[in-house]
Amino acid sequence: MIYQVGDHSGVYCIEGTGTARVYFVGAPDYTLIDAGVPRKADLVLSGLAQIGVQPLQVRRIILTHHHWDHVGSLWELKKRTGAKVLAHPRDADYISGKRVRRAPRQPLGRLMYTIFGLFGARDLPNVDVDAMLNDGDRVGSFCVIHTPGHTPGHICLLRDGYLFSGDLLMASAGEFHETPHIFTADVPTARASIRKVAQFKFEAILSSHHAPYVFGAAEKVGQLASKLGVPA
Ligand SMILES: [Zn+2]
Ligand SMILES: [Zn+2]
Repeated sequence: MIYQVGDHSGVYCIEGTGTARVYFVGAPDYTLIDAGVPRKADLVLSGLAQIGVQPLQVRRIILTHHHWDHVGSLWELKKRTGAKVLAHPRDADYISGKRVRRAPRQPLGRLMYTIFGLFGARDLPNVDVDAMLNDGDRVGSFCVIHTPGHTPGHICLLRDGYLFSGDLLMASAGEFHETPHIFTADVPTARASIRKVAQFKFEAILSSHHAPYVFGAAEKVGQLASKLGVPA
C-alpha cells in the first residue's frame, strides 16, 4: 500500500514492506528512503507504479542505517532502478560487506537475531554505497543529520518540515519513546541524538516502525529529550 503523507507534500509512505516502512519523495527528488526487509522490491516498485513513477525514474536510495530491515531489498531495488545508494560512512562498510554485522550480546538480543535470521536478515547481498552522507550535507531537498547511537552511522533526513527519523525513536499512543535498548549499539549516544534532533524545526516525523506522526512532532521529541535527562 502506498499513500501520500499530508495533502500536497509529495512524500509517500509504502507499507507492507515488513516491519520497516519505505518512504518515497517525488519530484524533483525521486528518492527512496530505506529499502525494507528482503524480498519486498516488487511491493515497493508496484507502489511507485501506482503513483506513476517508473523504476528508472528513481534517482537515489538513501539509507538511514545499515540494519537488515532497512536494506533487505536494497540489492534488488538498486539493480532494477539504477539508483545511486547513499549512506553515512560509519554504516556504509556494513552495507558493502567490508564489515560484518555482529549479533547483540544480550540474550534477548541474540534471540531476536536468530528469529530475524529466519526472515533473511543474515544473508543480505553486499551493495556498494555510491556516495557518503555526513552531518550537515545537503542532497536534493534533504538536509542530513547524523544521529549515531542506534548504529554508528544512523542518520535522519530533514526536508520541508518533515523529519525522516529511521530508528532514532519509536512511538505509541501519541508519545515518542526511545528505541528498545537491545537494538541500540550505544544508548547514551542515542539519547544525545534525540536531543540534537529536538533542536531542529519540523512538524512531522516519518519513522520506520510506526505510522507517520504529522503535527507538533518537534515538541514531542523535545519532551522525550527532557524526560531522558539528556544535557543540552
Ligand atoms: Zn535499526
Ligand atoms: Zn528498523
